[in-house]
Amino acid sequence: MKSIKDVNFSGRKVILRVDFNVPVDENRNITDDTRIRESLPTIKKLLSDGASIILVAHFGRPKNGFEDAFSLKPVAQRLSELIHQPVQFTQELLGPNVEAMAKALKPKEVMLLENIRFYPGETKGDVALAEQLSKLGDCYVNDAFGTAHREHSSTATIARFFPKDKYFGLLMENEIKNLNYLLDKPEHPFTAIIGGSKISTKIDILNNLIPKVDNMIIIGGMRYTFTKALGGKIGNSIHEDDKLETAKELMKKMDEMGVKYYMPIDCIVVDRFANDANRKIVKGDEIPDGWEAVDCGPKSSELFREVILKSKTILWNGPAGVFEMPNFAKGTNSIAKDVAEACGHGSYAAVGGGDSVAAVQKMQLAERMSYVSTGGGAMLEYLEGKTLPGIKAILD
Ligand code: ADP
Ligand code: MG
Repeated sequence: MKSIKDVNFSGRKVILRVDFNVPVDENRNITDDTRIRESLPTIKKLLSDGASIILVAHFGRPKNGFEDAFSLKPVAQRLSELIHQPVQFTQELLGPNVEAMAKALKPKEVMLLENIRFYPGETKGDVALAEQLSKLGDCYVNDAFGTAHREHSSTATIARFFPKDKYFGLLMENEIKNLNYLLDKPEHPFTAIIGGSKISTKIDILNNLIPKVDNMIIIGGMRYTFTKALGGKIGNSIHEDDKLETAKELMKKMDEMGVKYYMPIDCIVVDRFANDANRKIVKGDEIPDGWEAVDCGPKSSELFREVILKSKTILWNGPAGVFEMPNFAKGTNSIAKDVAEACGHGSYAAVGGGDSVAAVQKMQLAERMSYVSTGGGAMLEYLEGKTLPGIKAILD
């Protein structure tokens, strides 16, 4: 696995790629430091070995080089509070001064480079930038699962300069182990719950999971493309007309492979897209003209609960409704509770996806899940069966 667990980094200078892309408010105060805290096990392990650490991270999507609004400075401060020691911050971009700082770094000291995306080469996977970075340390550790699906200089290209000295950090290792469990050796029955707004973003994951699962629960807005393909009435509900054939093929594939699939039998419909709109409960495939579905209904929740509680392995990606509006969060919250309950009975459940994880956190149920992925896009691509450049670069 090339895990840092098996190596002692005493006296080494570790270039550690982390995901510090935290949300901030308009005054650039960090509103959620989860991502920083998730990198602490790796940072602490390296420090307790006696390594010095050169942290590399990105923040937002700066377009034209240095911009104060995209500086990692607030992150350096927060990290310093969390590890109770100074974090040297290189306000300057790469060059002789930064190299001198890295060189002078003593064991157990930490420095953080300014936002690596200030270099246009980063997102292009530029080799010269990767080489320049590589000179700052004597080994490379990637713990940035959230960007593992990107072939960038600091997430992939750099690894080639450390053919024998590249490793996964603890977060990355944990993500890979959990995702491999789902893909390679899940206990059955295995139920995938896939939702969200658009079927077009979930086709690949559905295709890759169908041969592996026993049950598929299809929820959220994407469900209405399936319903329309089946000839149901969907009113104004969200759907993608160019994916009707795809939906039919997916259902055919599930039938052929003996996958039982479930969709909401009832749903909450509204006369306009607002939390305080008029609403009523109708059958899942009988949505009246002028109304749109925004959540699944209570009968659906009961049906899903039965399936979830009978499952040994559960993967959940994509909310059941427009959970951002409190009146339409019931379906999503009910799934979150049921999945947590299944974990309490010894089932294994993984939750992933930016919005799904937000829903679970809002319900304060994250701790009760077996595993909550930190990488939205990266996790999806892994479950789609794709090779992630950040992972491949370490394994090659
Ligand atoms: P994740 O980030 O967990 O992968 P997605 O991004 O695929 O999830 O989907 C989340 C979005 O889907 C949420 O913003 C939610 O409001 C939306 N959504 C769910 N159900 C519906 C629906 N019936 N109509 C419109 N949007 C929906
Ligand atoms: Mg999302």
